[in-house]
Amino acid sequence: MAEAAEDAALAYATAAAGAAGDVPGVDPAAARPVTQAAVIGAGTMGIGIATALLMADLPVILIDPDGAARERASRRIGAILAAQREKGRIDAPTEALRFARLTLAETLAAAAPADLVIEAVFEDLALKQRIFAELDAILPPGAILASNTSTLDVNALAAATAHPGRVLGLHFFSPAHVMRLLEVVQAAATEPAVLASAMALARRLGKIGVVAGVCDGFIGNRLFEEYLRQVWFLMEEGVTPWRIDAVLQEWGWAMGPVRVMDLAGQDIGFAIRARRMLADPARPYSAIPDLVCALGRFGQKTGAGFYRYPDGRTPEPDPAIEALIARHAAALRVAPRAVADAEIVDRVLCALVNEGARALADGTALRAVDIDAVWLHGYGFPAAQGGPIYWADRRGLKTVLARMAEFAQGRHGWVWEPAPLLVRRAAAGGTLGAATPG
Ligand code: NAD
Repeated sequence: MAEAAEDAALAYATAAAGAAGDVPGVDPAAARPVTQAAVIGAGTMGIGIATALLMADLPVILIDPDGAARERASRRIGAILAAQREKGRIDAPTEALRFARLTLAETLAAAAPADLVIEAVFEDLALKQRIFAELDAILPPGAILASNTSTLDVNALAAATAHPGRVLGLHFFSPAHVMRLLEVVQAAATEPAVLASAMALARRLGKIGVVAGVCDGFIGNRLFEEYLRQVWFLMEEGVTPWRIDAVLQEWGWAMGPVRVMDLAGQDIGFAIRARRMLADPARPYSAIPDLVCALGRFGQKTGAGFYRYPDGRTPEPDPAIEALIARHAAALRVAPRAVADAEIVDRVLCALVNEGARALADGTALRAVDIDAVWLHGYGFPAAQGGPIYWADRRGLKTVLARMAEFAQGRHGWVWEPAPLLVRRAAAGGTLGAATPG
């Protein structure tokens, strides 16, 4: 990329976080003070969220009926705070003070003094609805009630309460005390003051808050789905997982997608695909990641996913996976073909842009910059490329559509049905709103 264009992209990426935080119609002055938080569920996310709150000097009541989970959480949070002291980020008195602000409790009744409750229990709608109904009865009317759900309908959670205006989603990314992105999910009835409070919380936690509408996957995971669909299809066409990662990392991505999923746990994708294939059988995935999961290879945590991890950490390409993919492609009668690096890059980017245009059109994302902020801060999108929508606007929407039309001639051409908004903006010589053309 020419230097001036790269500078412009970097300047845009730098400003994106601030722009996403400045939400139209949301008055920061309307934010309610938060002085006591409660977190429901002391699992992976609950631990990270509680730690993030403690690090922002908020007292936290962490609630889980499972005694072993509570003990584990206490140990883990203590260890994270100790590590921060060892790194010189906080002094010993601050470490002690923050740890002392953590209270562990067994039942929801302990959440009563909280003015902000973040629920992070198992991803089970009926369980979460029960918890929301019970909390709604316990908490004073001004308290905010948030869910960290990744996929469930936040409107259905709000409907379980008598005060749906105080309910919203706060979708943290794992590990929650480290990752900077926070999707703030606005449900149909969420009051503006509750949204303002959530955005203020994001700032207080040092995170990038981005407002997203209710849908399966919000902004980030909804687009990620289409990106990954291309990754698996590219494998069927003969591109190795390691080459996909290498090409995308060479393009500037912090970590290739196969490695990312090995780190997150391939079983997460397995469950999501199983659910979505039932909901929408007309949008199939490649079976390759499921075949890898069927071997018990869920990623780094099981010692192997697509990659092998002989030392438990360092990924190594595995010929057994290449053989598995080749067998699967042969069964499908798909001959391997030469795929250029540029096609690998454009396939995943065009998939992001097309779904991004749909998310803009249906209001899941309020603005192009919100999509770019999510991808820059939650998914390691290269800042030097601005963000996926910025990339599309700079590349030119007509060029993006032409590229998609080429891909539509290939396998699974159905994916490339262009988003109507993309077609309209391209026809008008316009952009999706992230950058001026040129
Ligand atoms: P987890 O299985 O690690 O932890 C869930 C915890 O909830 C367990 O400790 C369990 O004992 C507790 N729990 C169950 N019933 C409870 C109840 N009635 N009251 C209080 N606690 C109860 O799960 P997780 O990975 O931390 O995920 C939690 C939520 O966060 C899910 O909704 C998930 O979709 C979402 N999420 C997960 C990730 C991720 O990467 N793991 C990322 C974003 C969002």
